[in-house]
Amino acid sequence: MKWKDLTNLHQIEEYFSLTEKERQYLSKPSSQNLPVRLNSYWASLCNDQPKDPLRLQAIPRSYENIHKDYESSDPLDDKEYSPVRRAVHRYTDRLLLLVTHQCALYCRHCFRRHFTGGPNEEISMEELDDALLYIQDHPEIHELILSGGDSLLLSLSKWKYIEQWSRNLNRPLIIRCGTRLPITAPYKLQKELLEVMQRCKNLWMVIQVNHPRELSPQAKQCIQEIRSRGINILNQSVLLKNINDDPEILKQLSYALLEQGIKPYYIFQGDLASGTSHFRVNLSRTYTIMKELRVLVSGMAMPQFAVDLPGGGKIPLMEDRIVEQDNRHFIFKNLQGNDYPYPLEEEIHE
Ligand SMILES: *Cc1c(COP(=O)(O)O)cnc(C)c1O
Ligand code: SF4
Repeated sequence: MKWKDLTNLHQIEEYFSLTEKERQYLSKPSSQNLPVRLNSYWASLCNDQPKDPLRLQAIPRSYENIHKDYESSDPLDDKEYSPVRRAVHRYTDRLLLLVTHQCALYCRHCFRRHFTGGPNEEISMEELDDALLYIQDHPEIHELILSGGDSLLLSLSKWKYIEQWSRNLNRPLIIRCGTRLPITAPYKLQKELLEVMQRCKNLWMVIQVNHPRELSPQAKQCIQEIRSRGINILNQSVLLKNINDDPEILKQLSYALLEQGIKPYYIFQGDLASGTSHFRVNLSRTYTIMKELRVLVSGMAMPQFAVDLPGGGKIPLMEDRIVEQDNRHFIFKNLQGNDYPYPLEEEIHE
């Protein structure tokens, strides 16, 4: 393989002239934090600038050692909602399954960082069977979300197992797989895995692109290969300081995604994960960015801004367009700031 993994100071130094903050971290990586892993492919997309948006996502800086007391190692409260090991059943109709700890590249902003990169690498057959049985026994679950870690790094045999199980299930089930591999290491996507995924009925893929430059020719080729197998792709971004906290960049990102047939689905306010404060954007600025973006792009190009609150789950950020309500109307403010009423009608019962 032409590309190689970079996991320590020595290897990374061959590709980057490091800043003091990067060197400081890499010369004494904290075992409490997410491991370091990027690759020469990602390095080839970076430019020389210390503030390069791709570099910031992949090379740790000493800021990761800053831990705020309102941050948490489990900001999404995953443990609270786990009926069987590795499963998170927070929303009635969806079961999220953490299938592997591995990722092709460890994003420095990762909010599952307490889990990702851990030594216990992959879901065991026993754990998988327990989770699948749980789904069988809970007909209210319409969707299985394969997450982690990177679900495309789950072994081929377990992918096949899930595919066959879902085929024999007595009801339709959407399978959503979360992955960043087509973006961070497109060269690692195996043909055999694509074939198994193609056989899955109702498979949706959710990727994470945060900056338009991540959509390199290789990444686009990989995406087209996935799409040619009938798999629909959505994108979730994380709003990241100095990386994409700019309506113009987000506009470019949205249109670059749509050109690849990918729907911009969510953009998340940074979760309160320990050691990630240097990436977070102030929430009131997030609102401003959201409003500005909505004026710049079409509805199709507009991702849903959302924040995942510890205890509260995912909450969509709305512009609070309803400015008034009486017993006859809702009054909305449009994009230009003018008010328009919509009547509260009596419903006709036939
Ligand atoms: C985010 C999340 C989901 C998926 O939510 P959607 O709004 O359907 O994308 C499901 N389960 C858990 C635990 C989640 O954190
Ligand atoms: S790909 Fe996802 S799970 Fe993996 S390190 Fe990045 S953000 Fe975390």
